[in-house]
Amino acid sequence: MIEEVINSFDYIVQLKEKGMITWEEIFPSFYSIAKNNFKVIKENGLLEDVKKILAYTKPLKTLSEERKERRLEGLKDSLKILKERYLVDEVLEKPEKKLAPLTDIKYIKKVGTKRALILNKLGIFSLKDFFYYPPRDYEDRRKVVKIFNAKEDEKVVIIGNVVKSEEIKINKGLTIYNFSVEDDSGVIIVTFFNQDYVKSYLKRSVKSAFYGKIEYSYGMKQMKSPDFQVIESDEDFKSEILPVYPLTFGIFQTTMRRIAKEAIQQTYFLEEFLPEEFVQGFNLLDLKKRIKGIHFPLSIYHKERAWYSLKYEEAILFELAMIYLKLKMKEMKKGETKEIKGELSKKFLNTLNFELTQAQKRSYEEIRKDLISPYPMNRLLQGDVGSGKTVVSELAIIDVCEAGYQAAVMNPTSVLAKQQFKKLSKDLEPLGLKVVLLTGDTKESDKILIKEKLKLGEIDVVVGTHAIIQQDVEFKKLGLVVIDEQHRFGVNQRLELIKKGNHPDILVMTATPIPRTLAMTFYGDLDVSLIDEMPKGRRPIKTILIAESNRKSLYEFVKEELDQGNQVFFVYPLIEESEALELKNAISMYEELSKVFEEYKVGLLHGRLSPSEKNDVMDKFVQKEYDILVSTSVVEVGIDIPDATVMVIEHPDRFGLSQLHQLRGRVGRSDKQSYCFLVIDDDANNEIKSKMNSFSKTLDGFEVAEIDLKWRGPGKFFGVEQHGIPEFKFLDLVEDINIIENSRKKVERFLATIQSFDRYPNLKQELQTRYGDSIHLVNVL
Ligand code: ADP
Ligand code: MG
Repeated sequence: MIEEVINSFDYIVQLKEKGMITWEEIFPSFYSIAKNNFKVIKENGLLEDVKKILAYTKPLKTLSEERKERRLEGLKDSLKILKERYLVDEVLEKPEKKLAPLTDIKYIKKVGTKRALILNKLGIFSLKDFFYYPPRDYEDRRKVVKIFNAKEDEKVVIIGNVVKSEEIKINKGLTIYNFSVEDDSGVIIVTFFNQDYVKSYLKRSVKSAFYGKIEYSYGMKQMKSPDFQVIESDEDFKSEILPVYPLTFGIFQTTMRRIAKEAIQQTYFLEEFLPEEFVQGFNLLDLKKRIKGIHFPLSIYHKERAWYSLKYEEAILFELAMIYLKLKMKEMKKGETKEIKGELSKKFLNTLNFELTQAQKRSYEEIRKDLISPYPMNRLLQGDVGSGKTVVSELAIIDVCEAGYQAAVMNPTSVLAKQQFKKLSKDLEPLGLKVVLLTGDTKESDKILIKEKLKLGEIDVVVGTHAIIQQDVEFKKLGLVVIDEQHRFGVNQRLELIKKGNHPDILVMTATPIPRTLAMTFYGDLDVSLIDEMPKGRRPIKTILIAESNRKSLYEFVKEELDQGNQVFFVYPLIEESEALELKNAISMYEELSKVFEEYKVGLLHGRLSPSEKNDVMDKFVQKEYDILVSTSVVEVGIDIPDATVMVIEHPDRFGLSQLHQLRGRVGRSDKQSYCFLVIDDDANNEIKSKMNSFSKTLDGFEVAEIDLKWRGPGKFFGVEQHGIPEFKFLDLVEDINIIENSRKKVERFLATIQSFDRYPNLKQELQTRYGDSIHLVNVL
């Protein structure tokens, strides 16, 4: 195989670079590779190139040190060129008919209406969708080996004749078909299970190619359920690399491949849309080559280059969309600039009994610049639980109101909205600002009144749930929207907001620290301020793993804390008993804990309570009418109870790590020592234990987020609703951080202004088809 020959040359160069061979050894090694593979080299047309390389290496040992090194570099370049020339290809044969990339897949030969429906299920609707449908694996059928040389565990092709066959009925449901296959070096047993159709193909003395993994059974080489192909003439078997596609019911791999062969022919007509600086800058394969390379690569090298190039293509296009959106939003002028005197915020700062941290000051400064600028703010305020995001948002609200605008503060739940409202009215009313609460629970008559007053400008700040934007609320002069504790508020929702007119400044605050890659993708259109410092005087929370069998000592500890006037959370994954899952649940543990801690008051909170019931329970816990709160994860975000010092989480493995971090953040909000207990089943497996252990060792939310992302993947990271998380086909948000970062940097330089796009109509077109619908780019492109 020519790839192996080039790789062998490459390998020698690598050995030299690592200092594992001497200069003297290079030429003889090269020479013997060339000699041993003379036939392959000649047949593939490489003879001239190889001769040149040999002539170039022969005098190596006689040269000066400096020239030796230079030749080695030259050698590396030549090998790279050889790879690009002989190991990568594109479709060269012009198809009879040219089809537009967006042609319905049903018009592709071998598809038709019925199969098209099946392909639709795989997300393939057009020819182009097929181009970008990545195989999940590949079969390297170039590796034809003699049976004698086939090694255990290797996936290879064997070509031989069937010499014997047997059929063994194990039981009613299982029949085994064994075929003895022979070539001139040995015999192998090929085994199929229940696939009785193979009998009609693999008759005695039929010659076939089998692709599969070599195993050993009773001292014999064996292949189980291999792919096979009967060979009648020499042309029947092509040594090539074949794609293995993800399938769905109703379509076979072979059919899929046949369709792929047809579809890929059409790449003949493709034209590169990525600007030269990206293709050159990242050393990408040209469009035709990269698409062919993921389906029918000429070599493993080709396949790898194609994947690498398509990952870049995906990242570049996505970042282009994001940055374009960002520029577009900046272009929509606010109309007028806010005149912020800063008198009021100074007054507010003086009333605080603490000093802002450096990180808070910096973030506030960044926000303030945005507020003053004539372009709308689209900023994400990231900071770990308890880092003090609220104060920063309050400062922004005060500034905006001072300048004569209104502010809206949105929360994911009405419980949080209510708590937020209490805090804001306590902090802002003394400054002369009018704050109201507007949620689904607000009485209809009050709602009408509030809306009226908002319209007249008699209210400065409205606090509510996200429903505020959906309702027909009108403002006299909305200047700022704060979106708190929400990481699911995606691009589309923000655009929705902007469409409401007069482009308010937007400040998004996240509940959970987001790993870098996700921030760059999900919030790629936002500027980011980071609070990476905790307020002084906090005592780090102690996280303790405790075995179920030690429950008694846990209860004793909890009692001691309660005796000191502190409050305690118990959190459960389920509300009530479930038949399917044997887990402790909130309702029955509420009963048990009420007995265990009978001298204390215990509250119960879960998602099935009505919003006003929830408010009620929360209120009572805040007012210390309850000492213990038994809850499901609804207590997760934002709630602030300074006297709570113990968080007990049962079945912690049922929660994501970021969620655990959130829960843990509900305690440790004062200068008292706080604790988070993770109650682990005695028979929990090692994976759970090690995960919980690594969680207990860090208090850094960003670190937790990275671990969480690795364990659960990006989809689950954000929870069930995946609003707006882009689905990438080639990029892996965990593995490909560098690709995303590099692309972002280059795209930022490339798209310095919106006008930079005008020189690239193909690129603009591509972006439109790719992201036009999904991120509402249609509205702005
Ligand atoms: P989060 O970022 O999780 O929303 P909060 O804004 O609720 O955090 O702040 C948590 C607690 O820390 C609040 O009680 C708040 O008053 C307090 N806090 C905020 N900033 C500081 C600071 N610089 N110094 C001391 N305490 C602070
Ligand atoms: Mg908060």
